[in-house]
Amino acid sequence: MIFLDAAATTPVRREVLEAMWPYLSGEFGNPSSHHTLGEAAAAGLADARAGVAEVLNCRPGEVTFTSGGTEADNLAVKGIALARRAADPGLNRVVISAIEHPAVEESAKYLERVHGFVVDVLPVDGDGLVSVDVLRSAIRPETALVSIMYANNEIGTVQPIASLAAVARELRVPFHTDAVQAAGWLPLDVKALGVDALSISGHKLGAPKGTGVLFSKGRLRLEPLVHGGGQERGKRSGTENVAGAVALSTALRLASAEQPEQAARVSALRDRFIERVLAGVPAALLTGHRSHRLPSVASFCFPGTSGESVLLELERLGVVCSSGSACAAGSDAPSPVLVALGIDPGTAQTAVRFSFTSTVTDVDLEQAAAAVETAVGRVRNLASPQPS
Ligand code: PLP
Repeated sequence: MIFLDAAATTPVRREVLEAMWPYLSGEFGNPSSHHTLGEAAAAGLADARAGVAEVLNCRPGEVTFTSGGTEADNLAVKGIALARRAADPGLNRVVISAIEHPAVEESAKYLERVHGFVVDVLPVDGDGLVSVDVLRSAIRPETALVSIMYANNEIGTVQPIASLAAVARELRVPFHTDAVQAAGWLPLDVKALGVDALSISGHKLGAPKGTGVLFSKGRLRLEPLVHGGGQERGKRSGTENVAGAVALSTALRLASAEQPEQAARVSALRDRFIERVLAGVPAALLTGHRSHRLPSVASFCFPGTSGESVLLELERLGVVCSSGSACAAGSDAPSPVLVALGIDPGTAQTAVRFSFTSTVTDVDLEQAAAAVETAVGRVRNLASPQPS
């Protein structure tokens, strides 16, 4: 099997399993306990936090461990917007882009539905890019928060985050970015990016599912979503998932050390794969920006097919990938991300996303591109059988 669905999830790395194992066995203590077992767990958690902080170039106290990317996004969007409005009742708007992951989009809609906020949705261009000028004109005196993703999970387009964050900073509005797909592939230095909050998920990086991090800048207040014993400096109550935090920190440090080399290597493989697919299926449409895209994502529409049928054929040929977001798998509705790019709903339903782990090889992608040509041909023949 050739696994080309790494944007959905990745296997846990051996080094990560080894790093977390002690905290699931001998050092199983509760980090809040005042005996030696508790202290060992607390030390593991502190090391994990320091490791994340080093990669993000922030202070350990600015790192909150969560149950994943979804919770980190919820905590950022709801937590920052609600805390800011509590301090100033006039702050009742949030700005997001039209292609956010549901974790951000639905959090913003919740603020609208339950708390009376207004959500300003920024359009994107045909490549999925948000314009700095459009952001500038959307920010108003009532804007409590801007949340724009670093890299899109369906089309791989990478936003000019530092430029977008600079506009928000100039207009004194906190800026959050969902870096779930960017982590491991793109620089994550929060000072260089100029962001106030940033979300990461462990399972996209070789750590287990159910692990995540929210960076939030020291002075930024957050209304917690989960109340209880006041763990994570009161931002996220609940006994900490020590092994999960150690796993995420280990995976993030490994990915960050490997990042420049792997990103360059995989980008070159991705470009060759895109060329092969476009040569094999001339009607294919590459979605997302040609160069401002994740090293690990190549996404297409195959007009005249159905994306789901192409996926089934590809799986028969030994290639596993997806039609876009794993969250929307099985849904018949065209992807809102592709529709936001201006792609017609019929074509959007023919989308297939190929996303790579850092261990992908050229041989894998050569075979996958050949399989794509075969699969698309078979689906087209089924759709319009030749007269016998
Ligand atoms: N944000 C983006 C861009 C994602 O791709 C995902 C997962 O696919 C998430 C958030 C949610 O992360 P998690 O699966 O850890 O909840």
